[in-house]
Order: sequence, then structure tokens, then C-alpha cells
Amino acid sequence: MEFRDLKAQYGALKAQIDLGVDEVLASSHFIGGQKVSELEGKLAEYVGAKHCVSCANGTDALQLALMAWEIGSGDAVFVPDFTFFSSGEVVSAVGAMPVFVDIELDTFNMDPRKLEDAILSVERAGKFRPRVVIAVDLFGLPADYGRIRPICERHGLLLLEDGAQGFGGMVNGRTACSLGDISTTSFFPAKPLGCYGDGGAIFTDSDEWEALLRSYAVHGKGECRYDNVRVGMNSRLDEIQAAVLLPKLKAFPTELEMVNSAADRYSALLDGLPLKLPKVPNGYRSSWAQYTIVLPEDANRGDIRRYLGDRGIPTMVYYPKPMSSQLAFAGRCCLPEKCEVTEFACNKVLSLPLSPYIDLETQVRVVDNLKMLL
Ligand SMILES: *Cc1c(COP(=O)(O)O)cnc(C)c1O
Repeated sequence: MEFRDLKAQYGALKAQIDLGVDEVLASSHFIGGQKVSELEGKLAEYVGAKHCVSCANGTDALQLALMAWEIGSGDAVFVPDFTFFSSGEVVSAVGAMPVFVDIELDTFNMDPRKLEDAILSVERAGKFRPRVVIAVDLFGLPADYGRIRPICERHGLLLLEDGAQGFGGMVNGRTACSLGDISTTSFFPAKPLGCYGDGGAIFTDSDEWEALLRSYAVHGKGECRYDNVRVGMNSRLDEIQAAVLLPKLKAFPTELEMVNSAADRYSALLDGLPLKLPKVPNGYRSSWAQYTIVLPEDANRGDIRRYLGDRGIPTMVYYPKPMSSQLAFAGRCCLPEKCEVTEFACNKVLSLPLSPYIDLETQVRVVDNLKMLL
């Protein structure tokens, strides 16, 4: 059993993917070609943003956004304590101060009330200037933008949506990756929309930011590639990845329905067990980057994982450690308030095998084996 069955997806889309990749090979146009432009247009249309700027990966996408906003030394950026390392790493990478904020256990996303407390605390301390909130759409579920955006507006902060796991999600009719002032995603193979290597994209409605992002992504280019007006990065999506992503984006709405059905099947099969199941709040749609359960207090996660692993059932722990406990941030972050929910989640979460292509029989096997230990 695969944790995320990318082989089944390739099997389903092989003809179109192979055709596109062959076209790129035949054209020998590997960087900055027509497929990248076509993909950017289709991605922008899908999420409902004016611009899409593709780049090399989801981490660069976040960093480029911070660079376009000139975030740096003396600036505070608010990040959930429960996320993948990149969300915090990019803040330090541009020289700003990451401030970690606790999550809500129901959604695994940033707790808006604690966000505002953290902003007030940084404002009071007066050492760093609050500038940006990075809201992460964890496990495919968009963050609580209905409450986070007004907080950003009250305190004059920019909102950056880390939609690396959120592509395809929705809140009240608005699509993920259009919910921040700038929004980003990742095309890492295991993400909801993955390519066959690394890739990422940035979305915004602002013409000015789009121009800056395009410049920062290509060595701070000015009029042309050999006119460099700022220090940037080399961060591009290549044509082969675009050729993989075009047919995958076309299949994406169907796959999104498939993965939602699979998540519903898990929830039905797991109903009644002493577990906390992932919930999708009213008005939201998840893209189910992960199906993550919270084990009971007395469960031994290591034993459960070993038992399942011995029976050929792979599971993952996203994430075993709060961001604020990572050695890389020791003495290099702010933690205005202890993140108790994050700590609890880190000890008790377990992600089950999931992809649009997982079948009922496989899911029954996962659940039947899990039941033995609960
Ligand atoms: C995967 C991920 C990223 C980084 O994406 P890469 O393409 O791997 O650089 C950033 N944030 C979150 C929440 C992620 O899950």
C-alpha cells in the first residue's frame, strides 16, 4: 500500500502526460517556454487571481512574496507553530523575526484569537514591527480567513496565504490560493496538485507585486535578464514540469471530488472509534492533502505505527515537533504564549494513507487494523 498513490494517478493520466513531456523534449525549450505561460494562465483562472507567477518550489514562493514586500530585519512575521518548516524558515531567511502562534485543534490551523494576542504582545514590546501574517492551509483545509483578514486590517498587516497544501480548497465560494494579499502553493509531488520534481507558484491581484515577483524570481532582472536592478533569486518552473501539470490540472476537479469521497469514506468507517476525526467547517472545502486523526490520550502512537507498518500500512506523523522547538529557531524566534494545542497535536496526530485513487477495500483494511489497537 502506498501512503500517497502517485503511480495510480500516473496510470490514469499517462497518455497526456507523456505526450506533453515528449513535446518539450522535441522542442528543446526547457526554461521559460510556452507551456509555463499557458499553465500560469490556467492556474490564475482556476484560483481566481489576476496573476500567477510560477517558481521553483513552494518555499521560494513564500520567500519571494516576503522579498517583494521588502520584509527584513526588525520586522515580525506571524506563523502557526504547527506547520511544515518552510513557513517559518522563509521569515528567518529574509532576516525577519518569526513569531509563532498556536492552532485550533478542530482545524489544525492558526487560532485567530491567539494571533491577535500575539500581535498585541509584539506591538507592546516595541522591539519588532508587525508586518505580515502567514496563514497556512494545513492538510488541505483553508485557514480561518474570515477572522484572520479583519485582524490583519486592524493592525495594518499584510496577509500571506501558504497554500502549499491548500490548492483546491474553498471558503464561502472563494478558492484557496486567492485568499491572501499574496498566496503561494507548492507542486511537490505529494501535494494536492503535484508535478514530477519541484515546483511552486505565487498568486496575486496586484500588478505591482506581480512585476516585483517576476523580477526577484529571475536575479532581480530589470529591463531584461542582463539588467539587474535588485538582488533576487534563480527560481523558475521548467517546461517539463509545466507539461506534467497541464493535464494534471485538467484532471484536478475530478480528483478533488474523488479525494473528498475517500475522506468521507474514512470518516464513516472511523465513526464511533475513540479518535478525533478531521472536520471541515461549514462553508469550507478541503483538498485533503492529508487525512489526519488525533489519537486518544492513552494511545501509544509508536506502537500503532509499528503495528500498521508490519501489516504493510504506511502512516506518517505531520508534524512531530512545534516550529518553536526546532533547533534552527533556538533563540531566533518569538513565542509570546506557550503553544499547548500545537504540543498536544504533535504528540497525537497520525496521517493515514490517502489519494484520490485509494479504494474502499484499501481503506477498510487500514481501519480494520487500526481498530485492533484502539
Ligand atoms: C510543502 C510545503 C511548503 C514548501 O513547499 P516546497 O515546494 O517543498 O518547497 C511550504 N509550506 C507548507 C505548509 C508545505 O506543506
